[in-house]
Amino acid sequence: MGAYKMQSTDKNCSTLDASSHGVLIENSSVARVFFALWPEELARQALHTIAMKYQLRCEARTMAADTLHMTLLFLGEIERVCLPQLMQTADNVSAPAFGFILERISFWQHNRIAYAAPLEKIPALAQLVTALEQELIAAGFWFDNHEFNPHVTLLRRVGHALESQAITPIKWWVDSFVLVESVMTELGVSYQVLQKWPLSPR
Ligand code: ATP
Ligand code: MG
Repeated sequence: MGAYKMQSTDKNCSTLDASSHGVLIENSSVARVFFALWPEELARQALHTIAMKYQLRCEARTMAADTLHMTLLFLGEIERVCLPQLMQTADNVSAPAFGFILERISFWQHNRIAYAAPLEKIPALAQLVTALEQELIAAGFWFDNHEFNPHVTLLRRVGHALESQAITPIKWWVDSFVLVESVMTELGVSYQVLQKWPLSPR
């Protein structure tokens, strides 16, 4: 846990402390990156609608619609020169496309977020994350390997958390995954999709 070290076998791709978001943002030689699912338009709009619906009741801030995502695997800060190797590694991930449904809004006290989540385990989603983890490990990348807990953050700085509850179900068809760079700007964090990988058709 917490071992944010990253190495590669043939290049010296060492990592930096992933918690040091504020320290390294000015340094363009590193990139803060994570793999994610990016929702298509319909799912994005539906997620945003739910966020708006709960914002007032929860005394919270909504995530901007175009930032909504599901993190698959968070790497943290890596040397920018290592990005090509990271992308080549992700080229080897092979997993089928799948669909799932987000059915609940729930709250985490520790970081004061509200998130949308599926009701049950999604085997194809877990399979994709495992495939990604295995390829990265095989290539010598290291990351914090805590249990994957699928969620889409909808609200931040929640002042008033509610009981977990049902939402209008949101269908999400997943036919690709992406590598995203998290960039700190004057206006806050911005996400830039660096590369997209298709999943194999069913
Ligand atoms: P900020 O940290 O500035 O509030 P953010 O959390 O949106 O913004 P990042 O910290 O770069 O941006 O996180 C990018 C994505 O990775 C988010 O979905 C976040 O929840 C997830 N993430 C961040 N840190 C971790 C971590 N240690 N383990 C797992 N996921 C993480
Ligand atoms: Mg964060």
